[in-house]
Amino acid sequence: METVDRMPPKAFRERHSKSAEDLAVVQILKKKGIRVTQNRVELLDILKDARHPLNQKDIEEQLSATPDRVTLYRNLRFFVDHKIIHKIEINGSLTSYSLNVSYLDEGHTAEHLHFYCSICHKVTCMPQHGIKKYDLPEGFSQQSSKLIVNGICNICNKEKIKS
Ligand SMILES: [Zn+2]
Ligand SMILES: [Zn+2]
Repeated sequence: METVDRMPPKAFRERHSKSAEDLAVVQILKKKGIRVTQNRVELLDILKDARHPLNQKDIEEQLSATPDRVTLYRNLRFFVDHKIIHKIEINGSLTSYSLNVSYLDEGHTAEHLHFYCSICHKVTCMPQHGIKKYDLPEGFSQQSSKLIVNGICNICNKEKIKS
């Protein structure tokens, strides 16, 4: 049996054995030629286990040690620059980060639709809806496109029915 102090800091983080799961994160770093550090592995591990994209505050709450905000922000930016995670900006005020699913499932596209719940404010990745290359007029070239659908998520819709 595990002793209490070995439990993860947040109850909703599922207990998982290191080894196989962590290895996937380490592989991502190695594949990109990035130095594997404890901080980087932990950060990617949190994002990998998350059921939805996390904002910086969510991440801070799950880190085992008190976070150094500057380092955390720098690491997030570093991963975004290396296209390991993606940054989702909602209405200019909320920024969330999610591990790029293409690293875990080759079939998924990197750019995809995001859903923003107006009740719980959670962001959900919808990799099944990739963002298309638009047929733009002569002389225009597309670099990126952000598509956000606002609405009510499945969990909040269930709550509405109950009440
Ligand atoms: Zn919701
Ligand atoms: Zn996403």
